[in-house]
Amino acid sequence: MQSESLRPSPVTPTIDLDQQGVQHGFLRLPYSRDDSAWGSVMIPIAVLRNGDGPTALLTGGNHGDEYEGPIALCDLARTLDINTITGTVIIVPAMNYPAFQAGTRTSPIDKGNMNRSYPGKPDGTVTQKIADYFTRELLPRADVVIDFHSGGKTLDFVPFAAAHILPDKAQETKGFDAVKAFSAPWSMRMLEIDAVGMYDTTVEEMGKIFVTTELGGGGTARAETVAIAKRGAANFLRFSGILSGQIEHRETRWLDMPSGDCFSFAEDTGLIETMIDLGDPVRDGQLIARIYPIGRTGVAPAEIRAKLTGILAARHFPGLVKPGDCVAVIGTVD
Ligand SMILES: [Zn+2]
Repeated sequence: MQSESLRPSPVTPTIDLDQQGVQHGFLRLPYSRDDSAWGSVMIPIAVLRNGDGPTALLTGGNHGDEYEGPIALCDLARTLDINTITGTVIIVPAMNYPAFQAGTRTSPIDKGNMNRSYPGKPDGTVTQKIADYFTRELLPRADVVIDFHSGGKTLDFVPFAAAHILPDKAQETKGFDAVKAFSAPWSMRMLEIDAVGMYDTTVEEMGKIFVTTELGGGGTARAETVAIAKRGAANFLRFSGILSGQIEHRETRWLDMPSGDCFSFAEDTGLIETMIDLGDPVRDGQLIARIYPIGRTGVAPAEIRAKLTGILAARHFPGLVKPGDCVAVIGTVD
C-alpha cells in the first residue's frame, strides 16, 4: 500500500460516486498534448447505487485489445435494473482507456501495461495515474472485484474464470467460491508468472474477493465467450448479494497451474503449427507445436513438447512466433 503522504490523484470523476441511482460519467484525467493543450483522458464509468449494501467493482480493458469484458460491461451498465440491486455496482468497461481506444494491449501514450503498473503513481505516467486512482479511490470502496481479461491479439484461451492461491485461506476460499458462481466452462486455480505490478496483486493484498477471467482471444470476441462474460457478471453480482435472484449455475471443470512447467516459450522465429486444439487433452512429453523457419525449405521444425499432462488451456495467436513468445499453456485437470 502507498503512504498517505502521496499527492492527491489528478483524476476527477464527473459524477458523485456516492449518490443513489444510476449515473453514467467519466473519470477525467488531465493530459496536456499537441492536439489538446488543456485536454483530458475521459474514462467511461457507470455507478449504480440502491441503498446500503456491498460494493462490486467490475472492470474490463485492463489490456486494450481484450473484448469480452468491455462488451459485457457496456451491456450491463445500460441494462442493469437498479430496482434489482441492493448496494453499489461500479463499472469501468475499459480501465486502460487510451489502450482500448487504440485497440492495443498497452497505452499508446506511455506504452504502459496497466497490469504491470500497480499500485500506480499520482505523479507518474498516464497509465500509472489511472492505476493510482483505482488503488486509492475505487478499490477501498469495493468489497468484491472482478477484472475481465481475454487473450488479446497474441493469445487465445479456453474460456475460464480464475482466482489465485493466497496466503489467507479464508480469502482464497471465497475467491474460488466466486469463480464457481461465475460458471465459466473452465475454472482455474491460477499461478502468475509475473505477479509484480498486477492489479490482481493490489486487490488481493487489500483483502478483497477477486476474480479474473481469460475468455478467448485473438483480438476479437465470439458470441459464445461474450455470453459467458454476461452470465458470469450477473452471477458474480448474485454471489456478492447485490443482485437479486438465483445464481445461474453451469457445469464447470477445474484446472490447476501447478508450476512454471505449464508454460512453453518459443526459442525460435517462425511459423507455428499447433498440433492440438484448445481444450484438447495433452500427455506429458506429447508434441504440442512445431515452429518452421520461414526463410527456406528442407529445414526441420523446432519441436515444443508438453511438460505436464492436462489440457491445452492457451495457445499463441496468430501464426508467426519469435523467441520468448508464450506458445502454449497447459492446465492440469482435477
Ligand atoms: Zn489481459
